[in-house]
Amino acid sequence: MQKFSKFLLVAIFLCAQLISFPASAHNKRIKALIISGQNNHNWRVSHRALKLILDQSDLFEVDILLTPGRGGDMQQFNPDFEQYDVVLLDYNGDRWSASTEQAFVEYARKGGGIVVYHAANNAFAQWEEFNKIIALGGWEGRNEKSGPYYYLVNGVGVLDTSEGTGGSHGAQREFPMNCRKKKHPITKGLPDGWIHARDELYDRMRGPANIKHLLYSGYADASKGGSGREEPLVFTVDYGKARIFHIMLGHCGESLDNNPAMQCAGFQTLILRGAEWAATGKVKQPVPTDFPTSESASLRRSYKAPQN
Ligand code: ZN
Repeated sequence: MQKFSKFLLVAIFLCAQLISFPASAHNKRIKALIISGQNNHNWRVSHRALKLILDQSDLFEVDILLTPGRGGDMQQFNPDFEQYDVVLLDYNGDRWSASTEQAFVEYARKGGGIVVYHAANNAFAQWEEFNKIIALGGWEGRNEKSGPYYYLVNGVGVLDTSEGTGGSHGAQREFPMNCRKKKHPITKGLPDGWIHARDELYDRMRGPANIKHLLYSGYADASKGGSGREEPLVFTVDYGKARIFHIMLGHCGESLDNNPAMQCAGFQTLILRGAEWAATGKVKQPVPTDFPTSESASLRRSYKAPQN
């Protein structure tokens, strides 16, 4: 009888322990690394915004690694990529050391998860393997030697090898996002079209164009300084076993409080879903209640999704 009571007490104690833990403690968080430290953009704000978005979802455990500044000693920058389920690139600057570049390529080849965010696709114009990892890039001397332009004509992808610089954008504005693949874990359940908050719409990007699935495109209105084409904006990349999510959106504002492109609920949803997919191949997140509609944009001032 006494033995039985002891057993019962232990059982009750263990149950109480389980109940008292927050639910998230039971779910293994996704290990994410944000790389920043040099950029022609406001990286001091953008990498913090990305961390806020990931942290507040409770799905990720996030580390930040900043490179040395411009002209600094890149031998000091040696991330242990293999520790992470997903690596988010918020970096546009000096080449990394040969060993770090090799380690990054190895990480990708072994099936690593990568998120290419906004001007990270300006980086490393001369690094051939990096350009295969991003599929399309712009600026930094890119031209017809970098690969074709890729855009949509009547909804069909076109490779255009004509001469010209890679990378431009018109005036910042709100613009509609057009879904190009509804049956993908990242887009599943999201509306076909929605208004993205004020941002740059990258156009005339070029590269190897090894896009796996184009998820969203946007129209680069020539009257606003754009290419006049339907441009790829959010896609996955065909690169061996790697899971690569490339999002051209998210031009960083002057501060966390004045940062509409990154405060957009649509942008944040895509970052979270894209990072989860890159890490695991699945997306378990529900559609947030504040997702933008085809009529209007939706901002999260606090970078936090409403509780469903
Ligand atoms: Zn920008």
